[in-house]
Amino acid sequence: MVDPTSDLGEDVSEEDAPECVQCGDPIVAETDHRVRTTVEDGTVDHRHFCSDGCLDEWRDD
Ligand SMILES: [Zn+2]
Repeated sequence: MVDPTSDLGEDVSEEDAPECVQCGDPIVAETDHRVRTTVEDGTVDHRHFCSDGCLDEWRDD
């Protein structure tokens, strides 16, 4: 069953879970995590954030 609150689109174990770009916390099943997709030089990059707070801090850099 797919978790409708997940943006990862796949089952993620703790080992290969993405880390929050801002604070480095592993993101496993955070319901409020955020993903931003950027494209640089033709490469799609998914940046994961554990919360809106970290996303806001990253934006401010
Ligand atoms: Zn974070």
